[in-house]
Amino acid sequence: MPAKKSPQTDRARLQELDALFRLGGLVHSPHKKAAPGPGNGISARKKSAGMVKQPQGDSMPAPKKPSKQNPGPEILCIPQWTKYSWLVHGFSTRSGGVSTVYQPGVRKPGCGELNLGFTAADSRDNVERNRELFVQALLGGAAQKVRPGQAKKVQLRLLRQIHSGLVHRTSRCVNENSGPAEPLRGDGWIATEPGALLGIQTADCIPVLVVDVRQRIVAAFHAGWRGTLARIAERGVGRLRAEFGSRPRDLTAAIGPGIGPCCYSVGEEVRMEFASQFCYADTLFEEVFDLDPIKEKYPMLFLTARAPGHSNLGPSLHLNLAEANRRQLLDAGIAQTKIHRLNLCTACGKNRFFSHRAEQGFTGRMLSAVGIRP
Ligand SMILES: [Zn+2]
Repeated sequence: MPAKKSPQTDRARLQELDALFRLGGLVHSPHKKAAPGPGNGISARKKSAGMVKQPQGDSMPAPKKPSKQNPGPEILCIPQWTKYSWLVHGFSTRSGGVSTVYQPGVRKPGCGELNLGFTAADSRDNVERNRELFVQALLGGAAQKVRPGQAKKVQLRLLRQIHSGLVHRTSRCVNENSGPAEPLRGDGWIATEPGALLGIQTADCIPVLVVDVRQRIVAAFHAGWRGTLARIAERGVGRLRAEFGSRPRDLTAAIGPGIGPCCYSVGEEVRMEFASQFCYADTLFEEVFDLDPIKEKYPMLFLTARAPGHSNLGPSLHLNLAEANRRQLLDAGIAQTKIHRLNLCTACGKNRFFSHRAEQGFTGRMLSAVGIRP
């Protein structure tokens, strides 16, 4: 998928054009500045279609309050899940770690970011330390106090994510030596053992967590567009029901932060793929007119002799990945009222979240995790 233009590039292009026109003695009349769209400042939803809508959570996250001395990781939780004292869950953000490589602006000592993925630019030591901080913050967040040594009994399990529909079940025996040397390839996990903590790495893709509150079973899924197309969430819940005997009324799900329909432009081929799989595919896509500051200021430069509707200045296609996953959870039998969405766009909120799209690929990874307290 092509990388989006950055607002910096747009500004530079606009300044170049301005200078060129000034050179020719052409000074532009005072122009009302276009309001920046969500996220990158160049994309805005078509107002007439009632699309100007910042995602609002139907389940507002409850961030943990860090102390002033040690800010610690900011973890988002599902308020409806905090009553289960045996359950550990949370969605990380950028803040509260030791990484500085992706940090914009001035680096303050002791105020790093929480990159939780082994990326090329960050050091392994930083990521390992960040993961420790993340697990400690998760365990400390529920009603139950962290007992000494409890963090050591928790094993954070991560997959080699491949944008597939593959769902694994963790082994029954979870201790420090039982984990596979190489992470399993796949995009979904199911666990029943106390101490298992399932993690999904994302930087725009949608993390989906599912819990069977009666049997104390947890599951985590990674849903980018390919995984969503492969019905990772629907298949995962299907396995819970078929193999573990989960009853739909005992299941609850959470959809974490990911790129929103405001910022996720995709190609026509993605719409065609979805149309071949889902009868409701049309409801997942919207045509959005991107605001281009250069086209706004110098529209005459873009006049073409083509018939209306035949130029390449048309709307772009945006996909609502979170909604696609919500539909799958509904189809799998989970009640609407038990599907909780944070509705936070990682690209709009790139100062709070790592966003692959908004940061042109140079970014860290967040973790969404769910587990059973040891
Ligand atoms: Zn957005």
